[in-house]
Amino acid sequence: MSQPAVFLDRDGTINEEMGYLNHLSRFELLPQAIPAIRRLNAAGLKVVVVTNQSGAARGYFPTSLVEEIHALLQKILAAGGAHLDGIYACLHGPADGCACRKPSPTLLEQAARDLDLDLARSYLVGDRYIDIQTAANAGVKGILVLTGYGRGEYEYLRAAQGVQPVHVAPDLGEAVEWILRDLGKK
Ligand SMILES: [Mg+2]
Ligand SMILES: [Zn+2]
Repeated sequence: MSQPAVFLDRDGTINEEMGYLNHLSRFELLPQAIPAIRRLNAAGLKVVVVTNQSGAARGYFPTSLVEEIHALLQKILAAGGAHLDGIYACLHGPADGCACRKPSPTLLEQAARDLDLDLARSYLVGDRYIDIQTAANAGVKGILVLTGYGRGEYEYLRAAQGVQPVHVAPDLGEAVEWILRDLGKK
């Protein structure tokens, strides 16, 4: 039976927003990331990162750096007793006209096929309205976190947005608590 998942944006949601994360040394997890992902793992929810990484296509760093960052992320999480069930990245630039760049729902749909996920019972947590639009396009519930770009997006872009989040959370930790309550898991 297909199961619900929690999709997570990467930059500004689980790690510090650094602009283009163009070197491994600039990767820094947000303080709530490990316990929050561990909570989701313990609740039996699939946890999948969906991220736009156009920096390589723009020539700012090699594509291999994205893989290195994701390997480091998995390693840090493993040391903290947490894990991701998948990482799906769009490596294209906006001008490439690809099908997978958020706000396209393609990355989530791909993960749903690979991992047998029920999108109608799933969530996407992100720090930008593009994530909330992606959630709507994929038919999952969108949650905006106020870390990364979140506070500015919420304050200055909210009024102009057609799609609003089902919940606004100060950080990933609170977002996860809200999701677990929403699913009746606590
Ligand atoms: Mg982000
Ligand atoms: Zn793409």
